[in-house]
Amino acid sequence: MALIVQKFGGTSVGTVERIEQVAEKVKKFREAGDDIVVVVSAMSGETNRLIGLAKQIMDQPILRELDVMVSTGEQVTIALLSMALMKRGVPAVSYTGNQVRILTDSAHTKARILSIDDANIRADLKAGRVVVVAGFQGVDEHGNITTLGRGGSDTTGVALAAALKADECQIYTDVDGVYTTDPRVVPQARRLDKITFEEMLEMASLGSKVLQIRSVEFAGKYNVPLRVLHSFQEGPGTLITLDEEESMEQPIISGIAFNRDEAKLTIRGVPDTPGVAFKILGPISAANFEVDMIVQNVSHDNTTDFTFTVHRNDYQGALEILKQTAANIGAREASGDTNIAKVSIVGVGMRSHAGVASRMFEALAKESINIQMISTSEIKVSVVIEEKYLELAVRALHTAFELDAPARQGE
Ligand code: ADP
Ligand code: ASP
Ligand code: MG
Repeated sequence: MALIVQKFGGTSVGTVERIEQVAEKVKKFREAGDDIVVVVSAMSGETNRLIGLAKQIMDQPILRELDVMVSTGEQVTIALLSMALMKRGVPAVSYTGNQVRILTDSAHTKARILSIDDANIRADLKAGRVVVVAGFQGVDEHGNITTLGRGGSDTTGVALAAALKADECQIYTDVDGVYTTDPRVVPQARRLDKITFEEMLEMASLGSKVLQIRSVEFAGKYNVPLRVLHSFQEGPGTLITLDEEESMEQPIISGIAFNRDEAKLTIRGVPDTPGVAFKILGPISAANFEVDMIVQNVSHDNTTDFTFTVHRNDYQGALEILKQTAANIGAREASGDTNIAKVSIVGVGMRSHAGVASRMFEALAKESINIQMISTSEIKVSVVIEEKYLELAVRALHTAFELDAPARQGE
């Protein structure tokens, strides 16, 4: 008999009919003798709807209250799923994050899980109940409701699996596994049987939202067997694994990630003296804006240009600071651009292959796509390009690195 944590995402519980379908599925597992803890998201669109309501009251909602409100989305689905199970004769009980006691820090809207009290859950499992837990939420030491950031139900699932030492954490969603790239953008994308934690972590942090980054961090840290599966179609899904063993046949690139969430800022004609990077980026990080890619040009006439990217939400704030800095340090001008996108190729196979970056640049050049910024690490290469070329770039790279699925007959 196994203990399995199953997480169902927003579209999988998006209607009452779907919730009934999920209940049927959980019932089958239960009948096979497994102990089941289910984590659910809010019905799809609900979290956005709630955030929209708050924004009608104030542009920058008070975060504590925002958490009180958005956590209701998941509270609805746990109750509905528990009822659907009990209607089928499956004993079940629902818990909010607070009721389990998923203790988090107090960083509203992006809280981190500190500990989980598993006593209630274990007692219920022992009594033969399916335990249904609200994803995405917890409680801080003062009793305030917190939430874990968008996509946070994945992290609830993995953290519960780690606390309960579950045999597997199954993430059920609207695709049948992790693909070489978002299958909604590249129809030729292929499902991967396996992907390493390290690669999945890069894919998630570079924009593939199929798993929340923190859920992958947790799974890697506590070695939780993690699988991504389709909620309503049979199939093996994708296993996220520690081992890199089958590297003999490993492709150089495992996947392509992309994101449209960044914006670029440039300061030109900066007097090139020691400490210049600190003078420019110090005020940006003091304002709590996270900087991603950074490029400083070779200096010319003792002045240099400096470009970096921030999250698009932080663009206006960062630009104002940069203009102020430009005035303070005697730079010529500060400007910015939000029409950019970042495309990244990811793969542990890169470690043993030279020339991966140039193959990427060649593929982009063939499509006449100009590269604005580049950054590399051991298992990834990222480029910033003009946003309108994003889909073209992803498709071109998918083909260039031989990731395309073979065309099916008749296609
Ligand atoms: P859920 O509501 O179940 O949590 P999400 O929308 O958060 O689902 O995540 C699933 C979506 O992630 C898919 O519908 C797909 O469009 C997107 N996605 C992005 N990159 C990938 C990838 N590499 N493999 C699979 N899905 C991906
Ligand atoms: N409902 C939350 C969101 O939409 C959490 C989740 O679905 O994982 O971000
Ligand atoms: Mg999700």
